[in-house]
This record gives sequence, C-alpha cells and structure tokens, in this order.
Amino acid sequence: MKDKVRLEDIRKTDRPTLGDDVPVEVFRLLRVIGMYSILGEGSGYTLYLAGKELGEGLGLDSMEELAKLFRRLKIGVLKVLDALEDKMTVRVDECITCSGLPYTGKMICHFEGGIIAGAVQKILDRPTKAVQTKSHTAGFDHCEFLVYLL
Ligand SMILES: [Zn+2]
Repeated sequence: MKDKVRLEDIRKTDRPTLGDDVPVEVFRLLRVIGMYSILGEGSGYTLYLAGKELGEGLGLDSMEELAKLFRRLKIGVLKVLDALEDKMTVRVDECITCSGLPYTGKMICHFEGGIIAGAVQKILDRPTKAVQTKSHTAGFDHCEFLVYLL
C-alpha cells in the first residue's frame, strides 16, 4: 500500500460528469485562502518549498518544456525575458494565483516561484532561489520572478 499520492498519480481522475477542469476560484480558495488560514504568515515559504520540490520532480529538460507545462496546466503563460550567467528573469501572464486580484501590496505567488526555481534547478543542474518581483497584487499586470543561479 502506498503511503503518499505521487506526482504521476495526480493526473488520474474519475470524473465522467465533471471532467478534469476546476474553476480558478476553487484553486484560489485552497491556495490563497485555505493555505493562509492554516499556515498563516509562514504559508509563503512553505508553498515555495513545496513548489520547488514539485518543480524539480517534474523532470523537465528545457524552459520551453516548462512553458508548455504552465500552459497545459493553466498555471500561466510563462516566458523567459532574459537568461544571464547568474540569474534569469521569468515573466508569467495570466497567473492562476494572482491575475485579476486587487492590490494588497504583497507578492503571493510563492508556489509558482517555487515550481520555476525547482524546474530551473533541474534543467541547469545548478542550485536556485527564486524571488517574485512583480504581481497583480502588487500593482502590476503580470507576474515576474528573478531566479538566482547560485
Ligand atoms: Zn501571480
């Protein structure tokens, strides 16, 4: 008996009437409201670490694959703006977590940043740390992440 649902199991669904899609609203209930009420102020770092582990485990080989995955899972429209020796700038439009949300002054897309950091770490085989620099909730019309290559 398995003690944990694994990544390859996540895609399996048995929903003949409702299908595989859920409204963004449901995702945000869990992600933005649920996680925060359980984990409080620490939810950001926890979600970042969870995302990073997930991102590494995806087994991707290129940023193009990551962009395709983001689009297929409707996480957002990902684009690498620049890739330097020590850092990469990644833009995400239509972010599943924050697009359309009102201004709060806070960056809230920790999970997405974690996925990007983990995926880049695997792709480039270098340790990474991602920092969100733009978000809808911080007054921008897209998300942006700086991925430091350590
Ligand atoms: Zn976002």
